[in-house]
Amino acid sequence: MTPPVNQVAHWIDGRVVFGRSARTAPVFNPATGVQTGSVRLADADDVAAAVGSARAAAAQWRRSSLSARSDVLFGFRELVRAQAAELAGQVTREHGKVLSDAAGEVARGLENVEFACGVPHLLRGGFSEQASTGVDVYSIRQPLGVVAGITPFNFPVMVPLWMCANAIACGNAFILEPSERAPSASLLLARLWQRAGLPDGVFTVLQGDREAVDGLLAHPDVAAVSFVGSTPIARHVYATGTANGKRVQALGGAKNHMVVLPDADIEVAADAAVSAAYGSAGERCMAVSVAVAVGDAGDRLVDAIAARLPKLRVGAGDDPGSDLGPLITAAHRDRVRGYIAQGVSAGATAVVDGRAADLPADGFFLGVTLLDRVTPEMSVYTDEIFGPVLCVLRAGTFDEAVQLVNRHEFGNGAAIFTRDGGAARRFQFEVEAGMVGVNVPIPVPVAHYSFGGWKASLFGDIHMYGPDGIQFYTRAKVVTARWPDPATSTVDLGFPRTR
Ligand code: NAD
Repeated sequence: MTPPVNQVAHWIDGRVVFGRSARTAPVFNPATGVQTGSVRLADADDVAAAVGSARAAAAQWRRSSLSARSDVLFGFRELVRAQAAELAGQVTREHGKVLSDAAGEVARGLENVEFACGVPHLLRGGFSEQASTGVDVYSIRQPLGVVAGITPFNFPVMVPLWMCANAIACGNAFILEPSERAPSASLLLARLWQRAGLPDGVFTVLQGDREAVDGLLAHPDVAAVSFVGSTPIARHVYATGTANGKRVQALGGAKNHMVVLPDADIEVAADAAVSAAYGSAGERCMAVSVAVAVGDAGDRLVDAIAARLPKLRVGAGDDPGSDLGPLITAAHRDRVRGYIAQGVSAGATAVVDGRAADLPADGFFLGVTLLDRVTPEMSVYTDEIFGPVLCVLRAGTFDEAVQLVNRHEFGNGAAIFTRDGGAARRFQFEVEAGMVGVNVPIPVPVAHYSFGGWKASLFGDIHMYGPDGIQFYTRAKVVTARWPDPATSTVDLGFPRTR
C-alpha cells in the first residue's frame, strides 16, 4: 500500500491553514523518485486571506521600535543556527542536494539575518541643520507595507532569507510564495519566526504556482515583489507587477562563464571548475556552466577537469559519500539529457557523457558531463541548462574571451582565473556581469554587499539583499521643518525677548 503523503499547507496569521483551494501538486524526494508530499496551491481566496492578514499585521509592525525588531532578529538568528541541521535535512529531502551543500545554503542565508540585525544602524537617515534660516531638512526611510517574495526550488532556505530578513527588519509584513517543488522548508522558517517573537501575520507562507503569483501581482495591497527564478517568469513578474504599480526586483536565469588565461594555475582552475559546475548538480544560479580557455590553456584545462571527474560520486544527498545528488524532477533530468544529445549532434565533443554514467536505479539522477569544442551557436551554450553539464569553448585571445561573455544574453556572474593582476583588473572593468570573481568561481557577494546580475539575469534596478535590500523594502521621505526661534515666541518660554 502507498504510504499517505505529507500535506504541505499555508502559514497564515501564525498557524497552518489548508486554504480554500483544493488544487495540489505532488512533492517528491528526488533521490528515490517517491512522492513524499502534496502541496496546496493557493487560489484567489487564499491570496486574499494571506494579504488581509499581512496587511493588518503590517499596520502594527511598522510601529514597533527598531530595538524591538532587532531583538526578534537576534532571536531568529539563534533559532536558525540551532535548527540548521533540521533545515538542511529538509532541503536535501525535497531538493536532493548533498547535506554539506544544504548546510552551506543555511549558513549563507543566515548571513542575511545577521546583516538585518543591524537595522537600527541601517535605517539611519540624514540631517541638515539650518538648511535655510531656522529650517532643518532630514530624511527618513519608511516601510512599504505588505511585500511578497517569490522564490525558486534550488535554494528553499537561502533565497527566502535573502528577502524576508531585511523586509521584516524594515517594518514590512512579508508573504513568501516558495517553489511548489520544495515547499516544506518555508514552514520551518515560519515556526522559527514565531518562536523568535515575531507577531503573527508579519511572516506568511502562501503555497502555490502561477495562480498564487498572479494573485499577488494583481492584489492592490501588495506594495512590492521580490522574485528569484527563471528568466521567462522573471520577465512576466516584472512586467505584470510594474504594470500594476508595484515596486519589483526580478532575478532571472544565468549562464556563468569562467575565463581561464594561459598563465593561470591550471590545477586550481580545474578544482574550481569542477566544484562550481557540478556542485548541487549544477542547479545553482551562480554555477559555472561555461569555461572559456584562452590560448594554450584549452587542452591542459580539459585534461585536468576530465582527470577529476571519475572521482565524483553521484548519489543520495543524505549519503556522506555523495558529491552531488539528483536533479529536481524526472522531467528536468530528461530535459538536461536532451541538451547533451543536442550538443553532441551539433558537433561538441563529449569528453565525459553523464548519460552513460552508472547511477542509482531510482531517483532523478544524471552523471556529470564535460562537453569540449562547444561553439556559440549551439543550444548547450545559448540556453541555461541548469544541470551537471560544463561546456568548454576555446578563445584565441583575452579580448575574444571577453567579447564572448559580453555577447551572451545572461550576465549574472563571470570569473577569471589568472596570475596577472592587470589582466584581472581589465576583466573586471570590461565584463558585462553583475558579479565578478577573480580566481573565485562563484562570486556570490557576502551579505553586506548586494546580489544581482545584468542583462536577462535581472529585471529592475535594485539588487537583492545587503544595502540594496534596505533600499528596496523602504521608501524615502524628506522632512523640511521650520521652528521659529523661541526668543520670538508669543508665549513666555523663558528666553530673552528679541522683540
Ligand atoms: P521558476 O521560474 O520555475 O519558479 C520560480 C517561482 O515562480 C516559483 O515560486 C514558482 O511557484 C513561480 N512560478 C512558476 N511558474 C510560474 C508562472 N508561470 N507564473 C508565475 N509564477 C510562476 O524557477 P525554478 O525552476 O524554481 O528555479 C530555477 C531558476 O531560478 C533558474 O533559471 C535559476 O537560474 C534561477 N535562479 C536565479 C537566481 C538568481 O539569483 N538570479 C537564484 C536562484 C535561481
